[in-house]
Amino acid sequence: MKGICKLCGKNDDLRESHFIPKFVGKWIKKTSVTGYIREKNEVQKRAQDIAKEHWLCGDCEQLFSRWEREFANKVFYPFVNEGKSVASYGNWMSKFCASLSWRTLTYIRSKNPNDENDGERKVLLDAAQEHLRKYLISEADNLNQYEQHLFPLEKIESTDSQDLPPSINRYFLRIMGMDIVGNSTDQYVFTKLPSFMLLGVIKARNVKPIRSSRIAVNSGVLSPKKYRWPDGLASYIFEKADEIIELHQRIPQKHLESFDKYIRENPEKVIKSRQFQAFLDDYERFGDDVFS
Ligand SMILES: [Zn+2]
Repeated sequence: MKGICKLCGKNDDLRESHFIPKFVGKWIKKTSVTGYIREKNEVQKRAQDIAKEHWLCGDCEQLFSRWEREFANKVFYPFVNEGKSVASYGNWMSKFCASLSWRTLTYIRSKNPNDENDGERKVLLDAAQEHLRKYLISEADNLNQYEQHLFPLEKIESTDSQDLPPSINRYFLRIMGMDIVGNSTDQYVFTKLPSFMLLGVIKARNVKPIRSSRIAVNSGVLSPKKYRWPDGLASYIFEKADEIIELHQRIPQKHLESFDKYIRENPEKVIKSRQFQAFLDDYERFGDDVFS
């Protein structure tokens, strides 16, 4: 398909590219109970794949996949498959994070055209999107105020908080999502991968409190440390985790029945699957509340 590449602006053959990197969808599918992905907004049918559109030329697609490969092999797989929690990174990390935020921002804006009527907001989002774009094609060598913050999310075994939703481990370890979140003073591009949450700053009054999650532009080390979420983000996350339970209640009966049938017929495969493990993690922490 011919068209204008959204990243470099060239008129060229456009590839079908994924908003959330393909390796993530593959991993989810491979480690799920039945081998299918169910998208949040597609409860009626099993989505075998995640959002993709023709929007990048071959060169830009190549650029993205190089950074994705580095992240997948040096961070994602060691974290989710082997439980490693330390990884050194080079410049590819800030590029990968910026590419995710740029994709999420572009995607969410295309899905919510009404938001663009707010002139002030449009100027703000345009500026962020354009700066990320320039950073990705090396027209800018710094992220400036559009810092990328990556939070590794580990299984929660115990907390002092009474308000944690009983689906929190499933949300942390399994769910993908894209959004723009914030309030009148702080705005972030939000991208959720299994076991990772990425926030791309659009504007923030004070980023000092969340400094430990900032990805360095050139090189750094990802490691377990005291991470702090921006104020107000926890309630957003809990809401999203609660949606897992609501979603489960909206799954058509016939799908639940075939799901049950699958579990009965493939017990060993199910027990080994990560999806089932994440469910057990919630069960150990929250008991019967996971069924509510
Ligand atoms: Zn391009």
